[in-house]
Order: sequence, then structure tokens, then C-alpha cells
Amino acid sequence: MNTISENLKVINANIKKAASKSGRKPEDITILGVTKTIDIERIKQLISLGIINLGENKVQELLQKYDVINSDVNWHLIGHLQTNKVKYIVDKVKMIHSVDSIKLAEEINKRAKQNNLTVDILIEVNIAQEASKHGINADELPLLVEKILKLDNINLKGLMTVAPFVENPQNNRIYFKKMRNLFVDIQEENKDNITMEFLSMGMTNDYEVAIEEGANIVRIGTGIFGARNYT
Ligand SMILES: *Cc1c(COP(=O)(O)O)cnc(C)c1O
Repeated sequence: MNTISENLKVINANIKKAASKSGRKPEDITILGVTKTIDIERIKQLISLGIINLGENKVQELLQKYDVINSDVNWHLIGHLQTNKVKYIVDKVKMIHSVDSIKLAEEINKRAKQNNLTVDILIEVNIAQEASKHGINADELPLLVEKILKLDNINLKGLMTVAPFVENPQNNRIYFKKMRNLFVDIQEENKDNITMEFLSMGMTNDYEVAIEEGANIVRIGTGIFGARNYT
């Protein structure tokens, strides 16, 4: 057995436990394999183990891998997206997790329309208000939701956050709870014209706590592939 499949077994067992703590089934949780900096061979191994939702944080890298990996996988853009790069990926991604301005939403809407598409997006919230992070503040959320709901070629599907890096993942529980509350509030206030399906939160260090607090997409890189080698 190789490392990736061993790692995946551990992750699946952890997900099962965390899901049951929040009254859900493991099948309700989607593992998004974060493949940034990972070579094609190892990505193909992951795909062969049944992980078909893959996340990249850079447009350029996503495009390179998109061309080489010709299996049936869903690519997710999870990193900061510049408006001038939307056109390259709008027809290639399953979902954009990192929408954090009306300007970006309008550009996605425009390019989606040109391609006769409707694009699924999540709004990224900077839930701990860290200066180093992208995403909007929680108090800006209602207005951005309202504006996005007017765009015909975008489907708002939920929320995403990158929680602080902490030694003890329990310290992020408060942020995951806040995200869950925002998620539920949006659904309640816009019942008739929106389905909030996805709460994308939790990474290698804190995905179990995130699931306990309601995450249904967890974005895991290191936990699957081991530490990344940055150049
Ligand atoms: C890199 C990255 C992840 C995965 O982080 P790990 O700690 O390696 O699991 C998740 N989400 C985003 C937005 C990332 O950039």
C-alpha cells in the first residue's frame, strides 16, 4: 500500500467520526484534494483512489494540470482570483471558492454569459479578520449576497473560509461556528431564490473540527500528499 492511500484511509476514518458527531453521514462530506505543487503522477494516484474533486489555488497551475490530466475530474479554484484571469478558467472549473468582491462576481458573470454557462461560486469570508487573508468581512456579506443574486450566470452555492493557522485546531471552532451561522442566515433570508449547499472549510490541520461544526467540503493537501516542497 502506498502513502497516499494510507493517508486517505486515515482521513476517511477521521471524517466518519467527525461526521457522526454532527449527525451526518461520511458521504455528506466531500474531500477536495488540494494538488498545488503536486506532480502529475501523484495526482493521478489520488484520482485512481476515487478523489475526483481537486483544488488549485493558482490559475496558471490549474490550466497546466487541466491539460495534462484528461480524466473526468472536477477542478475547483480555491485561491485568490484576479479579474483579468477569470476568462481562462470560467469554462474549466466546477466551482470557484474564492469570490470576495462584486467586481470579481461581475466579471465571472460576464465571462460565463459569453460561454453560455452558469458558474457555481462560493463567497470567501475572512472570518477571523486576518490582515494577511483574502475574503470579505462577515458584515459585508449581506450586501454582496444581494448583489450576486441579481447576476443571472452565477449560482451562489455557499461559503468558504481559510481559518487561522493554529497549533490547536480547537481554537478554530469558534470561527467555524460563526461561518455556520452566516451560512444558515443567508439561506433563511433568501429562501425563495437560493440554495446554500456548500460550506467549504477545514484543511489538514483542522478539518475534523470544521466538519463537527458543519463543513461539507474539506480542502486537504498535506494530509494526503505530505508536506509540500515550495520552490
Ligand atoms: C493549500 C490550501 C489548502 C490545503 O492546505 P493543507 O494544510 O495542505 O491541507 C486548503 N485551502 C486553500 C485555500 C489552500 O490554499
